[in-house]
Amino acid sequence: MGMTEDLVQWAHEQKCRKALASLEKNGFTAVYCATPQDAAEYIIAGAADAGTVGFGGSMSVVSLGVEQTLREQGKEILNHGYPTFSLDEKLDIMRRQLTCDLFLSGCNALTLNGELVNIDATGNRVGAMLFGPRKVIVVAGRNKLVDGTPEDAITRVKAWATPPNAKRLSYKTPCATTGFCSDCGSPDRLCRVTTIINRRPRLTDFHVLVVNADLGF
Ligand code: SF4
Repeated sequence: MGMTEDLVQWAHEQKCRKALASLEKNGFTAVYCATPQDAAEYIIAGAADAGTVGFGGSMSVVSLGVEQTLREQGKEILNHGYPTFSLDEKLDIMRRQLTCDLFLSGCNALTLNGELVNIDATGNRVGAMLFGPRKVIVVAGRNKLVDGTPEDAITRVKAWATPPNAKRLSYKTPCATTGFCSDCGSPDRLCRVTTIINRRPRLTDFHVLVVNADLGF
């Protein structure tokens, strides 16, 4: 790594560590991961006693490549994201994610005050983050950090996360065409459920990995 890259990495690390200190204060198990590989290893170790592992549909988690390893270890994988599944099969998997042993998710935005902000269309992902699974591990790349309020975080999600997500899923929303949110009334609107997790949900073993790398969007 050159000197400029080192300095950029260092600057991001300071932001990550500030978010981590806030997360700890807010009751989460907060872990700094210098690389995506560190995050992947943490998840594999954290899944040791899990029989079922749910995937919330996160591009950040997908990029870590842990699903195949967990499958090879004999875990039952609950991932509704395969296009071959019927709607009924997807719904069944999403319902089972709500009571899985370990639920893996990304996070649309994470404030430096340690608040997790997410926007869902269906609500299954945020539902499983709040209560049900024995353990939740959330992966947040440094690009998800917001130095501001939860409102600022919502603005970040609608500016940077939802438009590419709508495009990826071929939804007919204005943002999938223009790249900008227009607070649409589209039948395909993705922004239907917004959650702000201010403190660890009290009955959930909740881990947040803050990764010093850009992951997902
Ligand atoms: S409200 Fe509509 S236009 Fe705005 S980000 Fe959500 S889906 Fe896109």
